[in-house]
Amino acid sequence: MKRIAIAAALIAAATVAHAASKPADTIYRNGYVYTVDAKDSVQQALAVRAGRIVYVGDNDGVKALTGKKTEVIDLQGRMLMPGLIDGHMHPQSGGSRLLNCSLNYESLTMTQFQSRIQACLDNDKKSGPDRWLIVVNWFQQGMQPDGVETTAATLDALKTGRPIIVRSSFGHSALLNSKGIKLAKIERDTQDPPGGKITRDDKGNATGLLEDAAQDMAMNLLPPLTVAENLAASKAALAAMRQQGITSFLDAYTDPETMTAFANLHQQGKLTARAHFAVLIDLDKGATPQSAVAELLKQQKQFDQGPIKVAPSMQVRHAKLFMDGVISAPAFTGAMIEPYLVNKGTPEKPDWQPGSSNGPASYFAPEALRTTLKELARAHIDPHIHVDGDRAVRESLDAIADLRATPEGKHVRPALAHDEIVDPADYKRFAQLDVTPVLSFQWGKPAPDTLGALKDFMGPRRYALVEPQALLLNAGARIAYGSDWPVDPLDEWFALKVGVTRTAAPDAGKEYGGTLTGQPGLPRAAALRAITLNAAYTLRQETQTGSLEVGKLADLIVLDRNFFTIPAEDIANIKVLQTMVGGKIVYQSRDMR
Ligand SMILES: [Zn+2]
Repeated sequence: MKRIAIAAALIAAATVAHAASKPADTIYRNGYVYTVDAKDSVQQALAVRAGRIVYVGDNDGVKALTGKKTEVIDLQGRMLMPGLIDGHMHPQSGGSRLLNCSLNYESLTMTQFQSRIQACLDNDKKSGPDRWLIVVNWFQQGMQPDGVETTAATLDALKTGRPIIVRSSFGHSALLNSKGIKLAKIERDTQDPPGGKITRDDKGNATGLLEDAAQDMAMNLLPPLTVAENLAASKAALAAMRQQGITSFLDAYTDPETMTAFANLHQQGKLTARAHFAVLIDLDKGATPQSAVAELLKQQKQFDQGPIKVAPSMQVRHAKLFMDGVISAPAFTGAMIEPYLVNKGTPEKPDWQPGSSNGPASYFAPEALRTTLKELARAHIDPHIHVDGDRAVRESLDAIADLRATPEGKHVRPALAHDEIVDPADYKRFAQLDVTPVLSFQWGKPAPDTLGALKDFMGPRRYALVEPQALLLNAGARIAYGSDWPVDPLDEWFALKVGVTRTAAPDAGKEYGGTLTGQPGLPRAAALRAITLNAAYTLRQETQTGSLEVGKLADLIVLDRNFFTIPAEDIANIKVLQTMVGGKIVYQSRDMR
């Protein structure tokens, strides 16, 4: 033990001596350098050479590294920190939605909903009567007034002969007009596909609303993005990321077209973030765990660019699995241990009682999940599992417990994404089984999708436990952040604010005041660690990125204000002034000087 410590000290001394001998490319001084090292220490200065960090310490020490060509940046007290690592997002749909007809995640009345879509139709005179209009970023739970129902008829009232699909920002439901329903060949006797639901009225006719896998009945009819559209989407995504300060990300559900686009940008030297891709494992269409993993490995062979280097590259080392849908109304596709509540009274005098549904059977049966996880472990692929309800969480943890007992299962880094509700009996199991919950902090606030779409249906005991960020942290879990963009707009700083405060934005409206449930917010240091080093861990990148330490890659950002000293509500207003990836400045705002 001791000998190792001495050896380490010698290596450290050698690094310093070596560092002193050659000038740095870039030096930051006079800063609040927040390192996210083991002690969360704060330093003044940092130096970069050949894409890596060669010095972290005080202003005096960095002087020796100043050469004629060194760019010296005086931070004037500003905060410098590791670049953000987004452990779960959908860059391609995020990027393409920046280019689509968008409802912008806004709470809309029926009239506003209709007129916004009509405007898109009117603006697009070129498209013929058979061309689908694709509308995105529909905040379905936010429709006003509460509980108002949108159906095909809502869209049929618009002046157009075109088929229309309106996709919820959640990604779990889509609304069609009658022409869309017809093209999708949905009739009275059409059966629900596995893992999906065709919503019907009391007469058994499709209302136009498709849930989860049923969306594919229409989605499969949409023309795929062209190569040029794919390229434009990934470009737009990377631009949005640079501005937010995101230096690494996981595409939590990719496809070859997306990876082709990113590979293309990589080739052009335009990949400005370290890009990780999770390939879907889906046993629906006759695939077996073996054949699904084989397909993943085929895509890995085509797109993975090997170990991480200084310049950003692409890694394909994750599998995406869905265990359920979403717990919120009106979907209720989250797999719950106990039933959702239903109102057995009247709207005026509600009487919320357990209903007959506790959500669908998990999308992976226990045995199929076990086999799949083992196959993935054997292939050195880390599973990234979508779990929203407490039963989906529990069944995944059970399968991971079995996996851990096998030799190949020891080194896996499983991540459970979302975890909107976890049974308290399972909190400690995340640490025990070394499973990382990947959480979207911005969901932990009073909003239509919590207050309106969860509260009554969960009942008070379970509602008190929703979005259990601090509860998992306090149980010893290594929590990581994932935005799930474009489920929400890409705004990592708002998400961090909500993680800390559990409050909505000041302009959200009176009904969304206060904090979500009585749960505590996250300590600020824990929130930052989740979006840096802990997310790096899920990408097997924590020895290279996620903290500012000598030898690591120079992935870092400069902020316009200090995350730790400003009022918590102000965290949402933080602007990134500069983003550096592998020692290269990829974004700089005008306010940097
Ligand atoms: Zn997602």
